[in-house]
Amino acid sequence: MDDFPQGFKERYAELLGDEAEAFFATFKQPVQKGFRINPLKANQTLYDTQTTQAVAWGNWGRFGRLKGHSVDHTTGLIYSQEPSAQLVGEIAHPQPDEKVLDLAAAPGGKTTHLASFMNQKGLLVSNEIFKKRAQILSENVERFGAKNVLVTNHAPAELVPKFAGYFDRIVLDAPCSGEGMFRKDPDAMQYWDVDYPSRCAKLQREILVEALKMLKSGGELIYSTCTFAPEEDEQIIAWLLDSYPELELMPIDKPKGVDDGRPEWADGNPELVKTARLFPHHLDGEGHFIAHLRLKEADAVAKKAPEVVKTNLTDSQKEIWQTFADETLQRPLMGTLITFGDQLYLVPTDTPSLKGLRVLRAGLNLGTFKKNRFEPNLALALAEQPEMFKHVYPLDDQQWAQYVHGETFFVDSDIQQVKGWYLLTINGNGTGFGKLVDGQMKNFYPKGLRFMPK
Ligand code: SAM
Repeated sequence: MDDFPQGFKERYAELLGDEAEAFFATFKQPVQKGFRINPLKANQTLYDTQTTQAVAWGNWGRFGRLKGHSVDHTTGLIYSQEPSAQLVGEIAHPQPDEKVLDLAAAPGGKTTHLASFMNQKGLLVSNEIFKKRAQILSENVERFGAKNVLVTNHAPAELVPKFAGYFDRIVLDAPCSGEGMFRKDPDAMQYWDVDYPSRCAKLQREILVEALKMLKSGGELIYSTCTFAPEEDEQIIAWLLDSYPELELMPIDKPKGVDDGRPEWADGNPELVKTARLFPHHLDGEGHFIAHLRLKEADAVAKKAPEVVKTNLTDSQKEIWQTFADETLQRPLMGTLITFGDQLYLVPTDTPSLKGLRVLRAGLNLGTFKKNRFEPNLALALAEQPEMFKHVYPLDDQQWAQYVHGETFFVDSDIQQVKGWYLLTINGNGTGFGKLVDGQMKNFYPKGLRFMPK
């Protein structure tokens, strides 16, 4: 590939000097494919995915290609993410119990990585401005089995009234000119012209102004792009440091092959070397820019704690849920039960009230109230560990193929045939629910997800 948009080659020839040819040459080389293993799953051994080697940073990254209709993908054991993007989550590295915002989150690469660190504790607000993309994000969060995630669909400014000064950590993986995507998706080049990075930078500054309103004193901001353009990288951080003296840049511990940011590509502020640049000619990855900032501790201003979400179940819903839980689960689930229409969710206890928010997923979707009974949601099967369920039925490969295709199947006659809801597993991880009636496992795999495995 050599048909760069007009002006692109000249620009990087000038910026990169002697390195430019090596940089351009990478665009002719194959895309670096990778994925992360999901530590929230009971069994983390790959079942039907090939991998060659580990990504040099973090514990979960591997090189290799994810197959969409595989066991590993449908059980949420792996999430596709190219290796350089995996450094963003590693640097963000939230602690369990923190309140974290992923402000531009779809399709969910950074969100699922953040959730991996949080280990089902604290609260992760995962926001996406575009509804369709927010829906994909929500599906990806479901498959990953994260229980502490609120998926919202808002423009950044709309979140501020609810979350002013609220978050310990904010990740902004900003919309950008996407130069690091050119190899993976050559179509992305059609949007590029020499002024595109400046237009993106304007949007990035606007989003950052809103993001900072939601950061706590002492909180951290992780800013990243998948572009090489200095306007959207060092120059954005130079502008932040200039406009917000209360922000400081944190050093990034740079693995081999990761470069320092280039002060000379912005205003010369020597602090900018603390930012990280990932170039495809220096490491096996598509390219990224990352900055880690911190809002210096200010004198504490007494703040009103936000109103927390309260349960809204009717007595009869409580009873129906309890009957289901007693029959199906080994232990009570911790959190606050709330309904949206006939859907029942479990949200972390301190979640702020959801009034005024467009929420696509409020924590864990437990299931649906039907007339006098409760039907569990796939999300519950993907999020809770198999040992939480009273009845577990491990599928063999053939039964799994029948299950994901939507078929009913007969279970082995030697298993104890207790009627009711079964968590179906494969490779030790939940894959969905079935209901055992007269020796037959009725299929509850959602119709929209069914497929014929190859
Ligand atoms: N963090 C995601 C991941 O790792 O999977 C990728 C995010 S992508 C680089 C940037 C996101 O910003 C896109 O999902 C895009 O829809 C969203 N976006 C576009 N315009 C925006 C705006 N004006 N404000 C906030 N987000 C915007």
